[in-house]
Amino acid sequence: MAATGSRMGVVGGSIAGCAAAVAGIRAGAEVTVYERSDGELRGRGLGIVIPPPLHRRLVGTGYLDAAMPTAPVATRVWLTRVPGERSAREFARQPSAVTPCNWGLLWQSLRSAASGARHHRGLPVLSVGHDGDGGALVRTAGGEESYDIVVGADGHGSLTRRVLAPDLRASPAGYAVWRGTLPVDASAEHLGALQLLRTSWVTIGFPGGHGIFYLIPRGGDAGPDERLLAYAIYATPPEDAPDGAGHVRWLADEHFPQEWADIVARGEHAAMTCHPVVDLHAPVAADPPFLLAGDAAGVTRPHTASGAVKALQDALCLEEALRTSPTPAGALRRYARERTPEGARLVELGRRLGRAQVELTPDWAAMDQGSVDAWCRATLAGTSSYLYADTD
Ligand SMILES: Cc1cc2nc3c(=O)[nH]c(=O)nc-3n(C[C@H](O)[C@H](O)[C@H](O)COP(=O)(O)OP(=O)(O)OC[C@H]3O[C@@H](n4cnc5c(N)ncnc54)[C@H](O)[C@@H]3O)c2cc1C
Repeated sequence: MAATGSRMGVVGGSIAGCAAAVAGIRAGAEVTVYERSDGELRGRGLGIVIPPPLHRRLVGTGYLDAAMPTAPVATRVWLTRVPGERSAREFARQPSAVTPCNWGLLWQSLRSAASGARHHRGLPVLSVGHDGDGGALVRTAGGEESYDIVVGADGHGSLTRRVLAPDLRASPAGYAVWRGTLPVDASAEHLGALQLLRTSWVTIGFPGGHGIFYLIPRGGDAGPDERLLAYAIYATPPEDAPDGAGHVRWLADEHFPQEWADIVARGEHAAMTCHPVVDLHAPVAADPPFLLAGDAAGVTRPHTASGAVKALQDALCLEEALRTSPTPAGALRRYARERTPEGARLVELGRRLGRAQVELTPDWAAMDQGSVDAWCRATLAGTSSYLYADTD
């Protein structure tokens, strides 16, 4: 096995970093993880949706704990506000099986599976470079260490990526996503919405954007069946208040059916953030001794619900490549061959979904089941997404 006894340094200890550490450990490497944050990453982030078959595979292979709570649903429901009224109209329903997770629980589960690695917390990597002997050097305030493989799992602003693609910059999509979570009890009066969310994830279309709503496990000390309501709303923010929570509340009040507007506008949020949406794709996912994983390798628009999915699949590919290639360098070249095109595919898929669902939104009021199915097929144009598994 190529990796047995080899030394792997991982820059970043979030989803991609912990998953890559598990891959390295399982393939027999000696793994060290550097994470610049000094706290537990548990509370960070909100909802993360993954495909059910990937969840099953990760549980089966020991990356995820079978006891980690999830909130699976099998259907997607499309709603819009009836023009001139405050009520909702359901205009389409599609089979779309997803496994929503709580980001913190997902991270915690991967972190436990990676406990065989040496973890440095609160230790930012200052630079990475070649060691002159085919390996890589990782420099921190504590000194320098040499590795056979360095995995850059250091997110969208990756310092590791600068070695492979020094001039690469993210391209803004020109719009933003507001993400929030709130305890289900805070929206208890919205019974219709909650009932729908127990079996489905919901898309609400409005002029110039859309919102996604779904339930996730509550996390913390809560029981496995307790839920948070999570949403992501995509729209172009006004120039004078690019990340204000006020705008998304205004949007919801202006365009959403009453019950859903109330959830966004009046709900007591457990968390709320606004991110600009960007596209980013490294031209090569690995060049020995460096490898990029997760957002460090590329950022796809969140409409694909695939950033963490890609990070997890990156790890599975890395493990397989390490197990079956004769040398660490051979494993990284195989990883690059498989993961570089997949990153490019997901960025393109995100652009297509963004164009259709934010930049050039259809007349939602005129949509019905047939036109939604046809529009989804045209948007995907032959490529695949687990969110749209049954539209073809
Ligand atoms: C609105 C929204 C919704 C999303 N929904 C989904 C979804 O449903 N499904 C899905 O699959 N994905 C989703 N994503 C994407 C997903 O959240 C990300 O792709 C994923 O979390 C990226 O993980 P990562 O580990 O690559 O990066 P990060 O989580 O950014 O981690 C990078 C880590 O590296 C550390 N770091 C950085 N620099 C250094 C350094 N110099 N030294 C040491 N440590 C360093 C950071 O502290 C951080 O912990 C969504 C994203 C958004 C914005």
